[in-house]
Amino acid sequence: MWNYKIFDILLFIASLIVGLSFAPLEVDLTKFLIVISIFLVFSAVYSNITIQHGNGGGTFDYGISYSLSFILFAGPFGLLIFEFFHRFNVYFQRKYTKTADADEFTDTLYNIGSFVLYNTVGFIIFFTVLPYAQTIPFGYFLLFFAVTLINRLQASGLMAFAFYLSGNIKSWSEVVTLFFKKITLFDIGKVSITNALLYYFVMESQWEMLIGLFLLNYVVSKSFVSNQEKVQNELERDRFREMAYTDFMTGLSNRAMMDKQMDEINGTDEVLGIVVADIDKFKQINDNYNHAVGDRVIQHFAEVLKAHTTKEDCVFRSGGEEFTIFLRGRNYVECLDFLKSVSTHVNAHPAEVEFDGKETFIDYSASFGLYFNKMTEELPMERAYIYADQLLLEAKEQGRNRHVVKNGERSAAYA
Ligand code: GH3
Ligand code: MG
Ligand code: MG
Repeated sequence: MWNYKIFDILLFIASLIVGLSFAPLEVDLTKFLIVISIFLVFSAVYSNITIQHGNGGGTFDYGISYSLSFILFAGPFGLLIFEFFHRFNVYFQRKYTKTADADEFTDTLYNIGSFVLYNTVGFIIFFTVLPYAQTIPFGYFLLFFAVTLINRLQASGLMAFAFYLSGNIKSWSEVVTLFFKKITLFDIGKVSITNALLYYFVMESQWEMLIGLFLLNYVVSKSFVSNQEKVQNELERDRFREMAYTDFMTGLSNRAMMDKQMDEINGTDEVLGIVVADIDKFKQINDNYNHAVGDRVIQHFAEVLKAHTTKEDCVFRSGGEEFTIFLRGRNYVECLDFLKSVSTHVNAHPAEVEFDGKETFIDYSASFGLYFNKMTEELPMERAYIYADQLLLEAKEQGRNRHVVKNGERSAAYA
């Protein structure tokens, strides 16, 4: 279990040896101080974005890294100094904001060690290949792309080894999915183009351009993060809205959705049929069997209603064993056909339930009230619903398992 901590420390010591072997700095000290100050400020600002919104508190930074352009400018010894200040700055920020892991200190040593070591490899490759790359169009950018890719492969390899030592990964396929599949061309493109431009501006001492590029990077990542948050919030809001309007037992819309839908239809002059349906003598089912059996019967009836309605219709569980249906895009006769086929189906297909460990069939029936009319300013849905409910009551009084209907349009015409 200590293996990986020893690995972190060894990696750090190796980076000290490599970095110091390139000492002293070969660049002008004043220029070095200007560049390291700008890089440190923006690295700190950038790591703030990744600290707050890191994917699951990742200790290892996978955000954009400016280390490649820095090492090309200042050499491995310069990068060692930069990484030392940058990583310890992140370390103290995390300690201060109490977002630090238990292993934060050795992780910091790991980060300094790995960044210096693999960037040194990139540094050597870059200057070896640069004379050749400059002879082809866009060779400068292509070289940055290749070195960034090599760097990322090295970083992933080191990280996979560290995870292997910590006992967090067991198989090669895990290594591939965790560390190598995440490498995308866009990601490599982003890091390589940024570093190519940063290096150019540093070498040309174009300080305003350098700061402009850092600002661009910051603004783009920040807007990306906030867009991502916005999408996340919208998804959550939609999910909550759906939950608020759904009846979980039947999967149908609930009473709240019914009120909303009524509001939407009110005053539109839409001609529709409102059906209020209620299971007959339901209390007896609960009493003769149990509540769970009662629930299954409610679900059975809901399924029958769903199967007999179209996408245009609206079906709500408006009460315990009471349902409301808005039949849309149908004429009066088609609404009557709907009622006939639902009651025929219910009478012919008892609900299949498990009772006392045995498969049991429950015969049941339902009564219906249908009110058909045009929904005008004068006739709001709420009133039409009350009419349909009164018709249901009549069906109950007449002995149940039947429908009582009224075509409001025709009586209005005859009135
Ligand atoms: P009627 O033919 O006049 O409609 O008689 P009924 O027994 O169906 O009507 P009543 O309104 O007297 O009883 C309805 C019962 O439904 C009362 C209540 O305990 C039960 N109930 C309401 N919601 C649920 C539910 O979600 N699950 C179960 N199992 N029972 C419920
Ligand atoms: Mg009932
Ligand atoms: Mg009822």
